[in-house]
Amino acid sequence: MHTRLYITSAVLLALVSACATSPLGRSQLSLVSDEEMAQVGGQAFQQIAQKTPVIGSGTEARYVTCVANAVTHELPGNSNWEVKVFKSDEINAFALPGGHIGVYTGLLKVATTQDQLATVIGHEVSHVLARHSAERYSQQMATGIGSEVIGLVTGVDPSVFNAAGGVLLLRFSRTQESEADLLGLDLMSRAGFDPNGAITLWQNMARAAKGDKPPELLSTHPSDETRISALQARLPQDLPVYEQARKNGKRPQCS
Ligand SMILES: [Zn+2]
Repeated sequence: MHTRLYITSAVLLALVSACATSPLGRSQLSLVSDEEMAQVGGQAFQQIAQKTPVIGSGTEARYVTCVANAVTHELPGNSNWEVKVFKSDEINAFALPGGHIGVYTGLLKVATTQDQLATVIGHEVSHVLARHSAERYSQQMATGIGSEVIGLVTGVDPSVFNAAGGVLLLRFSRTQESEADLLGLDLMSRAGFDPNGAITLWQNMARAAKGDKPPELLSTHPSDETRISALQARLPQDLPVYEQARKNGKRPQCS
């Protein structure tokens, strides 16, 4: 009887400690600590920065940093994020655990205003905030895939790590993508960016997707209509947040 009770408690304890809750209230499997993920994120960021030309100064670097800083300023705790602009035609951006943001110059041709760029950065940062990488990693571990094989692992929006070699690509799920969309919209609104920009951004993305070089950012993301209507449904909640932020003096002017 006692033995049985112990076993049950042990199992229960294991399950409880492996469960986290996303900012939108979804329960998540979490078998890896924030510290471990931060370490992996830092290593991955270094690898990417070694292999992709970095734009360290000038208008583009200043502009992207201005938008990124305004967005991350709204995050709890560590708001000191590293921001790098990579010279590449890829229409993509990413954020990594440990506080790293990468934006490709190709994105700036599609995200043409500060509100649209804040949409993408808000989305990427929200993946980190909601511990989506740790969740993907834990799901892989739970299914028995590669707990020993995977040395360096993280989740990013597609293709970032093709360039980084040696880092396993874990794509985010659709659920995670939708969650990052909504959290990102909340975040940009709190920072004083117009959430209407999110609608325009994804319309621009949809248009770019019909071109000869479709945005990598779209490849695992929900369909345009699904995503845009979900964002539109959230606008009535976030527009007052945006207006309040403006009243409180949050009026980013990045150019
Ligand atoms: Zn995403």
